[in-house]
Formats: sequence, C-alpha cells, structure tokens
Amino acid sequence: LDAKEEFTHTTLAANVMRPRRNEVPLTVLTQDDMTVEDLEATINETTYNGFPVIVSKESQRLVGFALRRDITIALENARRKQEGIVTSSRVHFTQHTPTLPADSPRPLKLRSILDMSPFTVTDHTPMEIVVDIFRKLGLRQCLVTHNGRLLGIITKKDILRHMAQMTNQDPESIMFN
Ligand code: ADP
Repeated sequence: LDAKEEFTHTTLAANVMRPRRNEVPLTVLTQDDMTVEDLEATINETTYNGFPVIVSKESQRLVGFALRRDITIALENARRKQEGIVTSSRVHFTQHTPTLPADSPRPLKLRSILDMSPFTVTDHTPMEIVVDIFRKLGLRQCLVTHNGRLLGIITKKDILRHMAQMTNQDPESIMFN
C-alpha cells in the first residue's frame, strides 16, 4: 500500500470545518423568516465573509450561500432607495414572497444575491480531496453537510491553517506530500 495514501486519508472534512465540537454553531440565515433588523444585527455582530442560507432552523437544509459584501450593499440600497422597506420588513431568499399579514411592511427580496449552488462536501470527505477541489475550482469556501443537513464550513484560510499545522506537528508528513 502506498504510504502517501495512508497518510493523506487520515484527515476528514469534519476535522477541519468550523465549528468544531463544542464551539458556537454556524451563523446562518433562514430563507424566509428573518426581518431587516435580524439581518442587520447578524451583519453587525459578526465578521464572516458569508453565510449559509437554510430552509429553517428545524430542517437545517441548505438553500444557498450569501456573501456579506452583497448583503451589505443590498441592505444599504434597500434602506436608501426602496420605498417601504423598514426595520420590520421581512427578508426572503425564496422565489415567492412568504404569506404575510395584510398590514405587513413591504418585504425585501434577496433572491438575486443568493448563490444557489455553493460547493458542498460531506463530513466524511478526505481533506486531500477537499484541498484538490479548492485548488482546481479556485474556491473561497466550501460547506459541509451530513445526511443533507448543514454541518459546517471550510474556508481557504482554514485549509491553509490546517496545512501549516500538519507541517509543524508532523515533520515526517512533508516527505509524503
Ligand atoms: P477567513 O477564513 O478567510 O478568515 P471568514 O472571516 O469568513 O474567512 O471566516 C473566519 C472563520 O470563521 C473561519 O475559520 C471559518 O471557517 C469560520 N466561518 C466562516 N463563516 C462562518 C459562519 N457563517 N458561521 C460560523 N463560522 C464561520
């Protein structure tokens, strides 16, 4: 058996993704039950470059990925130009507007900034394959799922950190890489 194979298959996506066990859960957006206020709070309270969008907290099923930059611009535009978008406006990434009470303020549609096919791998995917995909597709981040449920995220920096750690902690591994 090739020594390289044996070594490189030991780390899985689950070992590199965030959050780790016992860490605070991923910051996610839900597809149709947040308000402009919720979204602005999420943006202001975190520094992440992007957010997975899920069907609902209960299902944890992935719908897509939205970049902080695009959300920020959309919120600013909505506040400045779109009449009727207020703090309590509902935000939806879905194609159709959710059913709202008659006196609700105009909802904010963010479908256009949603990447509906973000790259995903399962938690059991060997990191060797994940690294290869990042290189070949020039990815910035990749989402990790288990049985269709969103589990975590791996960014390019997570991968670089992981590779640096491998090099430091296990000098012998360099020989196999
Ligand atoms: P980078 O890894 O380039 O610094 P981010 O600022 O987006 O990019 O992510 C910082 C760290 O937080 C990374 O370790 C990443 O895995 C994790 N992370 C990224 N997005 C989220 C998110 N929405 N919720 C929780 N953790 C995240």
